[in-house]
Amino acid sequence: EIMPSLVGSEMCIRDRLIIDFMSKNTPFALQVQKEICTSCGVCAEACTYNAINFSDFPEIDPYACRLCGNCVQACPSGALLMNTSKKQKDLSVASDTNGIWVLAETENNELSSVTKELLGKANELSSKLGQTVEAILIGSQVTSLASELIAYGAKRVHLVDDNMFASFIEEDYAQVVVEVCHKYHPDILLVGATPSGRGLSARIAALLQTGLTADCTELEIDTKSKLLHQIRPAFGGNLMATIVTPDCRPQMASVRPGIMSPLQYNPSFTGEIVRHDLSTFKKDGRIRVLQEIIQATSGESLGNSKIIIGIGRGVKNTETVDKIRCWAKKLGALVAGSRAAVEAGLIDARMQVGQTGHTISPDLYIAIGISGQIQHTAAITGAKKIIAINPDRTAPIFNVADYGFVSPIEDILPQLMATETI
Ligand code: FAD
Repeated sequence: EIMPSLVGSEMCIRDRLIIDFMSKNTPFALQVQKEICTSCGVCAEACTYNAINFSDFPEIDPYACRLCGNCVQACPSGALLMNTSKKQKDLSVASDTNGIWVLAETENNELSSVTKELLGKANELSSKLGQTVEAILIGSQVTSLASELIAYGAKRVHLVDDNMFASFIEEDYAQVVVEVCHKYHPDILLVGATPSGRGLSARIAALLQTGLTADCTELEIDTKSKLLHQIRPAFGGNLMATIVTPDCRPQMASVRPGIMSPLQYNPSFTGEIVRHDLSTFKKDGRIRVLQEIIQATSGESLGNSKIIIGIGRGVKNTETVDKIRCWAKKLGALVAGSRAAVEAGLIDARMQVGQTGHTISPDLYIAIGISGQIQHTAAITGAKKIIAINPDRTAPIFNVADYGFVSPIEDILPQLMATETI
């Protein structure tokens, strides 16, 4: 089911109008024309946010109002007026807008996997849009990574390499991206929906006054309008929303790691590196990093594992989980799980797969005791093969599985544990 397109930039305009009002720059954008109003009360009934109080005339509570426009449409006498003239005035798309940009992210001075995946997707979009794929890389001592970005598909890399960016400070990184975007006017800006990418992308979108669709699972170019279709699960994953940003640039989307496919690393790819001199850049200064303490982790990464065993609430107890872990070790697999398994204390929250956890694309995913709700399955569709183990043959996990065992795990675990390859 595809939802009618939402317009990301319209949401952004509403937010701007509300912010303008709150900072006392302008009168509130929604006004009642008392000379026309018949006090029928229809507007108050139509308001989903309880933002219209009614005495003799409707009174709009600007702090509760979201400028959704329901009341304007509902009013039979046309007495409500919403001033959205800003849209026509300053939100036209500049004619020199060009380029599909990827905001590069680094981990321990290496390119993160999501950066490579986004470059792969950007190349696919570029073939439909006819625009160049570019990357923006910020950090300290990161120059060597610029050529790596080219080898993964960037035709131009905007490089900001300076000691002052040694620590990731969201405010500063956002300001740098904004300065470079103001100079080059990218059409599209893609960011990894990682812990740092999520905050950074929201900040950049607010500063650039454009829309942002977070956590996209698919990106497409509309062949007619050439707009970026930013597709993501909505309403708890029960339907897919397609969101567009027709009036503001860049069109911004964040994408979870593990969904898109990177291009094969190719050192013979060529591209241009543009160094940006930001020696006059003034750091925000409110945040200073005093010390960095690297937390030791098990080193397990769901992004790199070829085989993942997902355990669900149906596994029931830690004894069975321990046995599954022994089997996983033999197979060279990682053990992850559903949210219900995390809540039941069967698996660490860092290993949760699903809408609010990791998106995975291993060669093989073995789902044990997982019912297959959309919030879980939406994150495993990238797996090449799925095996499900569940005694309930009507469980939805079997709809996405390539192979299934209709059985309680306890009954077949001894046989499974005897296998070393799969
Ligand atoms: P259940 O749905 O309880 O399924 C247990 C299964 O085990 C059943 O099918 C049962 O037949 C089977 N079973 C019973 N006994 C055995 C046995 N002996 N051997 C084998 N199988 C057995 N969920 C996620 O997983 N990840 C997310 O990121 C996530 N995000 C969410 C975000 C939102 C906004 C919401 C609303 C929900 C989210 N959920 C998420 C929760 C999701 O809707 C499901 O509740 C959850 O995935 C169910 O987990 P489960 O399949 O392990 O448990």
